Amino acid sequence: MPSDKIICSICQHEIPAAYLRVHQERENKEIVAYTIGLIKESHPEWSEDDPTCQKCWDQYRHTNAK
Ligand SMILES: [Zn+2]
Repeated sequence: MPSDKIICSICQHEIPAAYLRVHQERENKEIVAYTIGLIKESHPEWSEDDPTCQKCWDQYRHTNAK
């Protein structure tokens, strides 16, 4: 059983490694770059290499996809 648990640096919840947004990154590069910018506005110390769950990612991405 995989026991890799990671703390999302935005919501501080423990997430299974499979839920990291990095594993789901098949999105348009411009949208990814824009979403990263949005997250950084709210979380200045966040870096795109920090663990981020898909839920947090989607939350910011949907802000963009109006
Ligand atoms: Zn999160």
